[in-house]
Amino acid sequence: MSRQMINHRGEEFRNILADVTAKTKQVFQTKNELLILTSAGTGGLEAAVVNHLSPGDKVLGVSIGLFGDRFANIAKIYGADVTLLKFEMGKAADPDMVKKALDADPKIRAVLVTHNETSTGITNDLAALAKVIKSYDKLLMVDAVSSMSSVNVPVDAWKLDVAVSASQKGWMVPPGLAFISMSEAAVKAQAVSKMPKFYFDLAKARKSAELRETPWTPAISVFFGMQVALDMLLKEGLQNVYARHIALAKTTREGMKSLGLDLLADEKYASNTVTAVRANHGIDYKKLSKIMREEFDITIAGGQGELEGKIFRIGHMGWAFEPEIKECIAALKLALPKAGYVK
Ligand SMILES: *Cc1c(COP(=O)(O)O)cnc(C)c1O
Repeated sequence: MSRQMINHRGEEFRNILADVTAKTKQVFQTKNELLILTSAGTGGLEAAVVNHLSPGDKVLGVSIGLFGDRFANIAKIYGADVTLLKFEMGKAADPDMVKKALDADPKIRAVLVTHNETSTGITNDLAALAKVIKSYDKLLMVDAVSSMSSVNVPVDAWKLDVAVSASQKGWMVPPGLAFISMSEAAVKAQAVSKMPKFYFDLAKARKSAELRETPWTPAISVFFGMQVALDMLLKEGLQNVYARHIALAKTTREGMKSLGLDLLADEKYASNTVTAVRANHGIDYKKLSKIMREEFDITIAGGQGELEGKIFRIGHMGWAFEPEIKECIAALKLALPKAGYVK
């Protein structure tokens, strides 16, 4: 990634864009069109909303946490008529409740779903949710930012119309790129979408993609990183990558329980990429995070929104392996009593 910059409208970059796009599609398990945007994941979500919806469109936002709220909020800010179906933090979305919400308002055009809710460490049963939503023929847009590439998300098999991910999560590279795939139904929806857009106008991105270019200057260094990371993922084999994440998550959850800690997530839906732990039993999260960082060189994450101070989170996605998780558990064992933990 520290390579000299190259001309982003030259042949070398064109080949890199084609290579990264083709391999990213392999990870998405899709034959759909896939575009790469220079943006944070949230930009990918914004692109999903503004390219496929119009102001006044009825939209169902299924939220199990902060990122579900954010996706719905983007639609609301651009003028969609959003019904928010919210589930308790730490729980997964219930497909029957989604079905009820769709029955209650036949005018709903699109449904927004978070696959892996990073704020609570829950992975929705997306296969079951998609089955319900697609049986009503709604446009299904999925935030797969923190699941795609680490857990199995077969875009075509599950009929996900729009799926979004971002380079800094399981893809093992720094932030800077967002990926968005679009089904035929999504491409049709885009043709009639009236929400305002400029930077995230996918019609422009599509036109440029035909010339193997991007409409605006891309994050070239992150593309360099993606080329290497994709080869690593495909060499390890996607099934092996998923298995590694399943094992890492299990080690993490068992480690937390062995320390006497309580998990936030309903275990049936516990995420394979991030584990949320309750900061109870006297734990001062701020102190814990400081000790972990300063004494053990380990960064843990806190809770966001209403979960601030109430949980801490351990990431185990992408470039993560068993010895690191074991080290983290051993460090927590020493740090917890100093951070007020009594059991
Ligand atoms: C990280 C994340 C995002 C947002 O990504 P940014 O790159 O920070 O904008 C969105 N959704 C989920 C589920 C995430 O984990």
